[in-house]
Amino acid sequence: MEKCHYCDNLAEATSWSPEIPLCLNHFNRYMEKKVESTLKNVIYNYHVTLEGRRLLVALSGGKDSMALLHLLHSLSLKYHYTLMPLIIDLGLPHLHDGITICKKNCRNLGLELQIYDLKSEEGFTIPELIEIDGHTPCSICGLIKRYILNKIAVEHNSIIVMGHTLNDYTYRILRALSLGDMDTLRRLSYILSQGKRMAMRFSPLHDTYEIDICTFLRINGIEYSHAICPYNDFRIYNPYRRIMDSLEEIDHGVLRRLKRTFFRRLKPTAPKVNLRECKICGYPTTSEICLFCRIKNLWMKRKAKA
Ligand SMILES: [Zn+2]
Ligand SMILES: [Zn+2]
Repeated sequence: MEKCHYCDNLAEATSWSPEIPLCLNHFNRYMEKKVESTLKNVIYNYHVTLEGRRLLVALSGGKDSMALLHLLHSLSLKYHYTLMPLIIDLGLPHLHDGITICKKNCRNLGLELQIYDLKSEEGFTIPELIEIDGHTPCSICGLIKRYILNKIAVEHNSIIVMGHTLNDYTYRILRALSLGDMDTLRRLSYILSQGKRMAMRFSPLHDTYEIDICTFLRINGIEYSHAICPYNDFRIYNPYRRIMDSLEEIDHGVLRRLKRTFFRRLKPTAPKVNLRECKICGYPTTSEICLFCRIKNLWMKRKAKA
């Protein structure tokens, strides 16, 4: 067995970038450092005090959000924030497994899981909305989740933390570039400042490869949900995922380079988005009435007719 790069312990795994053998402690440190770099960015460049703040951690039970929860929990002793883990029950059957996994992990860490039940709070589930609306399942689900998370975070004066990985960012960048989708390119960010009725949000895994997340979960014996969304075939990023993952195998580090080039060179040239208040709910939007309210209205009209 190989030895750890930093100490005399046996290596448990190899990190992806840089590619070095690490023991359990040093692998965990390697993962924590990446999350810490985002926390430091938030503290020093955005002048936000994390001490005493509540971080609303958006969970799904999947690998990324479970790794995020454990890493944030480890670092909470150093940065003195409190964690508010939350899962939105969207009415999707595969999420039952995710909720069970989230409950287990939260219990192990001594955290109280909040469950937001979309059906009882808003009157609809994601499958019900998809039936009436022309949007793709992923875009409608993403929109509802973003809106609800922001609403809860604003009400609790919290900061939203999400589990988007380096891989996620590169799939989005590549797809949006290929389509010339300037709206998506403008909105892509891994740290978003607080605004009027808009909670700050950041994604501390933005520079972490999914392969490292899988290793982290495996060597720490952390449970996560393997359940697949019933709308998986509609996932617009699947082809980009396959291409980019194969490219990374051949050209080590290509995903990180792509993401960095985008955020350092291209993103700063994008014009700012002008936000105004939704006439119905008051939350920020680019149009007169936000998309959430428009979809909710459509749902209520259809329901009244039925
Ligand atoms: Zn070591
Ligand atoms: Zn609205």
